[in-house]
Amino acid sequence: MEKTVQLYEGKAKKVYATADPALVIVSYKDDATAFDGTKKGTIMGKGAVNNRMSNFLMKKLMDAGVPTHFVEELNDRETVVKKVEIVPLEVIVRNASAGHFSSRYGVEEGILFDEPVLEFSYKNDDLHDPLLNTSHALALKLATREEIDTIKAMALKVNEELKAFFAGCGVRLIDFKLEFGRLGDGTIVLADEISPDTCRFWDAKTNEKLDKDRFRRDLGNVEEAYQEMMRRVFGGQA
Ligand code: ADP
Ligand code: UDP
Repeated sequence: MEKTVQLYEGKAKKVYATADPALVIVSYKDDATAFDGTKKGTIMGKGAVNNRMSNFLMKKLMDAGVPTHFVEELNDRETVVKKVEIVPLEVIVRNASAGHFSSRYGVEEGILFDEPVLEFSYKNDDLHDPLLNTSHALALKLATREEIDTIKAMALKVNEELKAFFAGCGVRLIDFKLEFGRLGDGTIVLADEISPDTCRFWDAKTNEKLDKDRFRRDLGNVEEAYQEMMRRVFGGQA
């Protein structure tokens, strides 16, 4: 499978067409951005970590019955995925307080929730991805009620699977962001990526941050944290 024309360049990935109109190739970059793209940098080796970790987790989720866009890993940075029409919602699942939840509601980070918090943002850079609820999403016709029900159920299932998997790696899954897409026949599948860019990972013993917060907050050892997550996930086989 070969890339043809570049369809899109985002902040962290490029998307290429292939000879098959139902498939695209995603290419992961080392570029990092934060705070709505105002902070920019490079995290050496990030593209390969995110590509390989995301594919590994997507395969795990498929084994657990969650449909995803994953088709085939081509190399360290490039993967063939099913082309989808992205549902313009950032679906955030939180198991403990952190980031915007803490700043928005004025609570410290790390408070464990009795049940997961599910939240949507409108995926729209011009509007700075505003928080919205199901009624807003329906009013804006971002998805149908049936699609939103499916997305919520899938997001909670993904959380249960990932939480258990990361616990086995000595990692607390604090929160994460998912994106879903529609295949040609309308089926909803999990798309985009699951990586230290899109999740908050805290060491289970020390609560050390092992994710993009090290870049956002200038905590140092950014590359090392991505590599450490790679070791935890692949158990020494990375
Ligand atoms: P951003 O657009 O936020 O800068 P990226 O740099 O990660 O993000 O770019 C990747 C783009 O590809 C995102 O807009 C994402 O929604 C989109 N995407 C992810 N998976 C698929 C897919 N299977 N088919 C089509 N587009 C996808
Ligand atoms: N997240 C993401 N992309 C975004 C916004 C959030 O991947 O555009 C992830 C983020 O890494 C974290 C979770 O979603 O794991 C919740 O993020 P939050 O709303 O706290 O915002 P942040 O503080 O990350 O901007």
